[in-house]
Amino acid sequence: MERTFIILKPNAVRRGLIGEILKRFEQRGIKIVGLKFLWMTQEQCEKLYEPHKGKPFYEELVNFMMSGPVVAVVVEAPRVIEMVRHIVGATDPLKAEAGTIRGEFALTVTKNLIHASDSVENAEREMSIFFSPEDLIEYKLDIQDDI
Ligand code: UDP
Repeated sequence: MERTFIILKPNAVRRGLIGEILKRFEQRGIKIVGLKFLWMTQEQCEKLYEPHKGKPFYEELVNFMMSGPVVAVVVEAPRVIEMVRHIVGATDPLKAEAGTIRGEFALTVTKNLIHASDSVENAEREMSIFFSPEDLIEYKLDIQDDI
């Protein structure tokens, strides 16, 4: 079993896409184990995007991520890091396949609606910025016997 970290970016919230996006994970059988609605602080944002510090898009990205509230999510399933990134689609919405979240709803690279961790190490690092271990809920999905 694997866990990953997701953020619905401020434009996903402002566009009323919280339900639409979470539905796509739920309908695949992916279990939500952590969920928070919050306005990111500068410190949280800098920690999250620490690997991108110094890149040309960094300032714009950080400002955008703090422009409104976000939804932070931790999900659990087998091979969930790869599965979530598959459902999310390519970073550039122009290259994101039809049927993916970015391929259906996003227009620009910065405002690509959603963040999803790309490795076990990053998932652990990123979720720890927003969730403490007791925030993550253990339970069984009704469908869990099937997967
Ligand atoms: N980003 C950007 N311009 C770029 C590359 C990335 O604005 O040229 C933003 C984009 O919002 C992306 C985030 O930086 O989601 C993190 O980049 P990463 O390469 O990790 O993409 P992701 O894992 O989100 O697909």
